Amino acid sequence: VRGIDVMRDPHLNKGMGFTLKERQIMGIHGLLPPALLDQDGQVYQVMQNFHRWENNLDRYIYLMSLQDRNEKLFYRVITEHVELMMPIIYTPTVGLACQKYGMIFRKPRGLYITIHDIGHVYEILCNWPVDEVKAIVVTDGERILGLGDLGAYGMGIPVGKLSLYTALAGVQPHTCLPITIDVGTNNETLLNDPLYIGLKQKRERGPAYDQLIEEFMKAVVRRYGENVLIQFEDFGNNNAFRLLEKYRNKYCTFNDDIQGTAAVAVAGILASLNITKKKLSENKFVFQGAGEASIGIAKLLVMALMKSGLSKEEAVKRIWMVDSKGLIVKNRPAGGLTDHKEEFAQTHAPIDKLEDVVSTVKPTAIIGAAAQPQAFNEKILTDMAKFNERPIIFALSNPTSKAECTAEQAYTITKGKAVFASGSPFQPVTVGGKTFHPGQGNNAYIFPGIGLTAIVCDIRTIPEEIFLESAEVLSKLVEKSDLEEGRVYPPLSKIVEVSTTIAIKVAEYAYKNNLAYRHPKPDNLDTFIRSHQYSVDYQTFEPELYEWPGHKL
Ligand code: NAP
Ligand code: MN
Repeated sequence: VRGIDVMRDPHLNKGMGFTLKERQIMGIHGLLPPALLDQDGQVYQVMQNFHRWENNLDRYIYLMSLQDRNEKLFYRVITEHVELMMPIIYTPTVGLACQKYGMIFRKPRGLYITIHDIGHVYEILCNWPVDEVKAIVVTDGERILGLGDLGAYGMGIPVGKLSLYTALAGVQPHTCLPITIDVGTNNETLLNDPLYIGLKQKRERGPAYDQLIEEFMKAVVRRYGENVLIQFEDFGNNNAFRLLEKYRNKYCTFNDDIQGTAAVAVAGILASLNITKKKLSENKFVFQGAGEASIGIAKLLVMALMKSGLSKEEAVKRIWMVDSKGLIVKNRPAGGLTDHKEEFAQTHAPIDKLEDVVSTVKPTAIIGAAAQPQAFNEKILTDMAKFNERPIIFALSNPTSKAECTAEQAYTITKGKAVFASGSPFQPVTVGGKTFHPGQGNNAYIFPGIGLTAIVCDIRTIPEEIFLESAEVLSKLVEKSDLEEGRVYPPLSKIVEVSTTIAIKVAEYAYKNNLAYRHPKPDNLDTFIRSHQYSVDYQTFEPELYEWPGHKL
């Protein structure tokens, strides 16, 4: 390749970081300003720009253009300033970016496969210029965060998730492929939006939908092999559960909203026991919402409770779920119980309102994942503090605008008693002279590590036990000092090391349980995993020169 091509390739480009020698050898001298910057200098330049923007959407656009220009610099900035950057490239700003995706679209990133492409999915995959894809995040845009159906605008989510695969766990970026399956949208605003980038038609709900997904799964394996990881993200409830059941034992796949969320929430609950000084089995959980997130969490909780010695029946008794029709009870007049919900139906009279469920059940923990902002009202928070020395309050709905309550509300209304976590980040809150640092209960702590290990250890299917294992590992990484600050997750500033540790522990687990197909088993899984991680250090383009006998250079 010519020097100019290297400059134009974001995987290779170093911007003003090309050395004087490289500029001359590669024939790009004079194409760059004369100043020679090292990567540190470039990070400084990026951060000046970052702070100069007045709003986070502009920061998002700026960072995406950096990613398109100089990938190593982008990832260096993200990993070095992870607390500042995650809320931009991930929740909450990525939600806003999705809502405006038509306007901020600059350059394609990822693949679009539509319902009209049935019969041609493999060919589309062949158009992707990279042969070595290992991780796919796919959405059909039906339930983007708690924002609903955003159709093809949902592409921001797979893009953001895969950026975290690299930034947090070190998955090689060129092996990551974001995909949007466009089967239409039922969002009227988008159907009337001249900037909309997707198919302007109602969602396909018939057999053609399943046919497309089936063809997609097969085409992916044909193109990239059996151990390519396929993460389902932000599908609508019905399809999410169905497709997970259909594919989980045949493909290397998981649903992050169901399973990743479950692991992170269970980790937070396990860690919270160190604050509440209770056993897991002494807890009673009320869920606001009985969808992908809540059902996923509830099922993994049952596994954890059973591991602690309870029978399934005893475990389920500790879990109370509220959906849009109220408390989920056996023989509910309102009806509408799917098999997943039926599993958690209690023998109890119906109760409509969450606050009445809370005052009746007197739970130790309330977990919100229904995208109903302010669902944890003052009465509920006050009651929780009345019933418990340290009530567990998880407001997991994303983005921030959908949170069940703010950190400020949780801490002030409970007078600092709440053990609080939220799906999107909140600033620290000071109550009665003590400062609380809320943890971020977000699956970003889980999926990058599992993903890395699935890829490098050649895991072919991902059983539920892997998520329980990751939850336990994550909960043990919460330190005493974190707990003292009110945090049931490690601080975001440590998330890169946390993801790596999860990857290593999951690798140990996978080999022990015959889930890893990469043989022989590496002697040292710690160094093995780390040796596969992406490095943000620039490669050198200065050729290694050598002399011949009698021919000096
Ligand atoms: P989902 O499958 O669509 O489920 C939503 C659930 O909320 C449904 O059970 C629905 O009831 C229930 N609901 C709606 N309105 C309600 C109301 N007024 N009162 C009580 N329940 C109500 O969605 P999901 O995948 O679970 O996601 C839900 C939220 O969780 C989103 O905001 C998402 O961003 C967030 N989430 C967070 C994380 C994280 O890592 N923190 C991960 C995944 C999802 P019906 O069943 O009766 O319709
Ligand atoms: Mn999601």
